[in-house]
Amino acid sequence: MSTVLTRQKQKLNALKLNHLVEQIPDIVSVYNPSTGEYIYVSQAIEKILGYSPEYILEGGLELVKSLIYPEDRARILKSDRLLVSKANNADLSPSNKKPLNIIEFRIRRQDGSWIWVCSKRSVYGRKPDGSVQHILSITSDITASKHDQQRLLKRSHELEKRVEQHAERLELALEGSKMGTWEWNVDTSELIWSPEMMRLYGLDPDNDTISYEKFFAALHPDHREEKKKVLTHALETGQPYQIEHRCVWPDGSVHWILGQGKCYMKEGKPYRMVGTAMNISERKATEAALEASILRYKALFDSAIIGICIIDTDGVIHEANDRFLAMLGHNRKTIKGKLRWESITPLEHRTMDQRKLKELIASGEAKPWEKEYICKDGSLVPVLVGVVRIPHTPNLCVQIAIDTSEEHHLMDLNQAKDEFISLASHQLRTPATGVKQFLGMLLGGFVEDLPPQHADLVQLAYESNERQIQIINDLLKVARVDAGTVKLDKEDVDMVAIINEILDEQASSFFARHQKVDFKHKPTKLMARVDKSRLRMVLENIIDNASKYTYPDKKITVTLKQQKGTIEVQIEDEGVGIGAEDMEKIFKKFSRVDNPLSVEAGGTGLGLHWAKRIVDLHNGTISVVSTINKGSVFTVSLPKIAKV
Ligand code: ADP
Repeated sequence: MSTVLTRQKQKLNALKLNHLVEQIPDIVSVYNPSTGEYIYVSQAIEKILGYSPEYILEGGLELVKSLIYPEDRARILKSDRLLVSKANNADLSPSNKKPLNIIEFRIRRQDGSWIWVCSKRSVYGRKPDGSVQHILSITSDITASKHDQQRLLKRSHELEKRVEQHAERLELALEGSKMGTWEWNVDTSELIWSPEMMRLYGLDPDNDTISYEKFFAALHPDHREEKKKVLTHALETGQPYQIEHRCVWPDGSVHWILGQGKCYMKEGKPYRMVGTAMNISERKATEAALEASILRYKALFDSAIIGICIIDTDGVIHEANDRFLAMLGHNRKTIKGKLRWESITPLEHRTMDQRKLKELIASGEAKPWEKEYICKDGSLVPVLVGVVRIPHTPNLCVQIAIDTSEEHHLMDLNQAKDEFISLASHQLRTPATGVKQFLGMLLGGFVEDLPPQHADLVQLAYESNERQIQIINDLLKVARVDAGTVKLDKEDVDMVAIINEILDEQASSFFARHQKVDFKHKPTKLMARVDKSRLRMVLENIIDNASKYTYPDKKITVTLKQQKGTIEVQIEDEGVGIGAEDMEKIFKKFSRVDNPLSVEAGGTGLGLHWAKRIVDLHNGTISVVSTINKGSVFTVSLPKIAKV
């Protein structure tokens, strides 16, 4: 073929190619990387960047470089250099034209705006030595997709951040609530526990490991079967579960756990189980204490000897104890919610009840009042009732009721007993006094001189008789004071003188026991308006006790002093003392408290009871402070009514 023909053909080919290339919407360009000259730029550049192909052809690669976004420039140049050096060292065959690099960058349009483009570059022609001569670049506008991509990227970053924040918050919440989390792979049986979960089972998250078997072994034996059942059910149904159980820590201590979990299914088959656990030992302990306390109160409520019921301010009885039911002849079935206050109250008590209801609503309490209840059989029972509101409830109240017919009955019985004692004592006293006289006569040799052995026996009989008379006298004294028939015969008395007289009289007893007695009093005279003989007996008894219940060689101190509105006599000993639990008891009738000297001392247990009653009648008080094996201090306090 001639060279003219060849050139023509080349031109034709070039024209055809040119036509084809101009159809492509992307910018097609060819440039020489060594000289920086463009040999071809397609018309598409006008549409995409706003520059004419001639402008670029004139400015060359230097111009194009200046249009690239500054931040992207270095990257593009490096990539170009790499492309050329790779191509130069690569397979030199002409067929090796495949794109060597694809780069994305920003470029400035003629109107000054920036757009994103994607440039695919490949070797277009080589020099005879095989080195790169021209590079073909096909550049498309990717701004729209880049924006989408950036939006997506931004969104994904945001989501990632939010997930991270949620995870952080969840972790914090779990840590704060001491809640452990776990995950179990059903297929592989792999169990993963959070650090808190490990701690809940007494394990060290840094050094211990966990497995399904280890977890089951840590369950309290009482709960293993139950837990297995619950887990199996959750695995079969995929339903969430909740269970309270105990676990045993490696140190042997037992703890309560609340476990919750859920199984996830794939195509009807369980594959993953997740759950949480928390320590509820404290809650369990509180519940147990509460239950015990409820039981205690229930027992108290049920066993009380007075009637108790829970009633609301509308008069509906909600609950009642056995005593209350027995009082009215009802049972639990007939009373619950059905029985109303009015239905068990006779008409004549309604007005008073209304007044008490008002008092209850105003102050939360209705002071006790006497009324009657109508029993189931229609009979009436006299009662003393009192009502208090139960705090923190809308309108519930506790009502107590005492059957006063029983109280009267008891009072009657008590009176009869006192009368009996009084009568019996009188009857006993006369013959006993007679015996004393006759024995006295015998001892005094009124009949004849008694032989010594007879005299000893009669002397013993005389002493026994004296004790008998003493007991009868005590009984009589107590019966009289309890019957309320004692009338004080008051006069102005010098307390110093009385105490000195008593101490003189009892001097022989103190002497026999080698006890020292000290009487402390500031004024030489201290007047009090009292029943002289009775108060004397009160003090005699207390001073006698002080000596009786004190070992030999110890000291008894009697102190008389004036207080603000009272006169006080204190009798202090260094004796056996009285236990705190017996302190109240000693003032009760017939109560003798065992102590190391009580057998030797003898007594009726009536002295202090009578003494208290007499001091009460004087509007005074009698009290005791005592320590076992150290001694006691009895204090009689009388209102001051006379001055020295
Ligand atoms: P009695 O002395 O006849 O038993 P009391 O009524 O005088 O009866 O005393 C009641 C109880 O109180 C005594 O049995 C005794 O146990 C105790 N008691 C009284 N005074 C004293 C005291 N000073 N020290 C220790 N115990 C005392």
